[in-house]
Amino acid sequence: DYDIEEGGWHNPTIKPFSPLSLSPASFVFHYGQAVFEGLKAYKQADGTIVIFRPEKHIARLNTSNERLCIPKVDEKLALEALVQLIELESDWVPEKEGTSLYIRPFIISVEPYLGVRPSYHYKFMIILSPVGAYYADGQLNPVKIFVEDEFVRAVKGGVGHVKTPGNYAASLLAQEHAQKKGYEQVLWLDGKENKYIEEVGSMNIFFKINGEIYTPKLNGSILSGVTRDSVIELVKDWGVPLHEERIAIEDIFEAHQKGLLEEVFGTGTAAVISPVGELRWEDKVITINNNETGEFAKKLYDTITGIQYGKLEDTFNWVKKVK
Ligand code: PMP
Repeated sequence: DYDIEEGGWHNPTIKPFSPLSLSPASFVFHYGQAVFEGLKAYKQADGTIVIFRPEKHIARLNTSNERLCIPKVDEKLALEALVQLIELESDWVPEKEGTSLYIRPFIISVEPYLGVRPSYHYKFMIILSPVGAYYADGQLNPVKIFVEDEFVRAVKGGVGHVKTPGNYAASLLAQEHAQKKGYEQVLWLDGKENKYIEEVGSMNIFFKINGEIYTPKLNGSILSGVTRDSVIELVKDWGVPLHEERIAIEDIFEAHQKGLLEEVFGTGTAAVISPVGELRWEDKVITINNNETGEFAKKLYDTITGIQYGKLEDTFNWVKKVK
């Protein structure tokens, strides 16, 4: 709990999952002052339980807090809370490779107040849920993506770079439209010129063009994905040329036309790596890599999951041991 009169964050407790009683006038219900994170814990073959890059997720939570006028959390204490909670619930971390325990920390403003100003009372909660394998058959199935040309997700100076619920509520309609047309996800373009690639629904995006890797640079409206960062570190480590820059959607379609677009993939905590098999932009449709999983995407997937499940050495110090 956070209470300005009680000197800030206080009273950390672990309780069984149960309904929450809040005033209907709670600020969060009306003005959406809230932030969240999504990360995972994994059980390795020898029973060790690890969390993937928790410090990075907690740091991003504080970036979100700052933008939403929510008081920052003590990063050491938040990490300690994550570790203690998962240690206590270690029986809930599933064992099969591919499965994991999803961790959802979130903060909401709970002050009953109908005026608009930063609230004085907040709750920081962490809930957990075991999740099955994202790729049930172990195959990375390529997805079909619709390049969004009607709706916009984020603009410069807005909240696109942080994890706040409104971003997701505002993207539902675009996703629904895309799904009706037979596409699993949308690829967002910039909110100004409707030209530069930003990110996918819940993933960042990468392109392999003529042997080199391209991803949109962080510009204040793209979420700084932890998986994105991990992929960038690996690509650099492997000595593959990497470009973090503005990427126009027309350049991707042109690269495809020239036969240079080798792979496209999304990155995120849920799927880790998600190959893209088809892209539709206005009336143009392209198939990428014969709608098959590319070698580069597969290698990234195997490396990151290998580190998560303890089959590969954690040379980047990405996993935090719980027990
Ligand atoms: N973009 C958005 C909008 C997301 O919701 C997510 C998922 N958190 C990502 C990108 C990928 O981020 P991460 O790799 O940290 O899961």
